[in-house]
Amino acid sequence: MRHVGRCALLLLLLAAPPALAAPPALAAPPLVDVSKVVPGIRVDLRYASNRNVIGRAFYPRGARALLRRPLALRLRRAVRFLRPRGLTLLIWDAYRPPAAQRVLWNHTPNAKLVAPPWRGSIHTRGAALDLTLARISDGRPLPMPTPYDSNSARARRGARRGVSKQARSNSALLARAMRLAGFVPYRAEWWHFNARDFKRYPLAKASLSP
Ligand SMILES: [Zn+2]
Repeated sequence: MRHVGRCALLLLLLAAPPALAAPPALAAPPLVDVSKVVPGIRVDLRYASNRNVIGRAFYPRGARALLRRPLALRLRRAVRFLRPRGLTLLIWDAYRPPAAQRVLWNHTPNAKLVAPPWRGSIHTRGAALDLTLARISDGRPLPMPTPYDSNSARARRGARRGVSKQARSNSALLARAMRLAGFVPYRAEWWHFNARDFKRYPLAKASLSP
């Protein structure tokens, strides 16, 4: 009996929790200005102009295209792949602040088309991009299946009806370049790409102002 009692005491002592603090949570990588990290990339944030689905600017003047640092670095691969073809990426939207997501939701309160603000968009994680291809020589965008933010059926990836062969081929080339950079093409919108590891990045609240 006495022997059992000593064993139990020893077990109790061994099971006592160590007096160590829990390790700190790993901080998410910062948002960086894509144009400063990816040489040769072009940026035209449509939500900073009136050339968008709302018809007015709701990003600040001079807004930056922000993305999580490891993802911005990966984009270099896509740009390197396109350069010998005389092409580059042209970004229309990158990180999107929560307030801007609410503006889009209020305009189109349809969860099939716009992420509801309470769920948050992958753009707000700094892990999604809306973009197209442009010529390096003069910056002109290439023909694509639809304009940006069109909710036509032609915006669906691989749509054939009413889409020229040239536009289909350009859209496929954009998807190929983005896959090289670790982004997954979104089926419903030819211009939208999510980082394949977007779940690693939490929703963020940051300023687009320079
Ligand atoms: Zn998007």
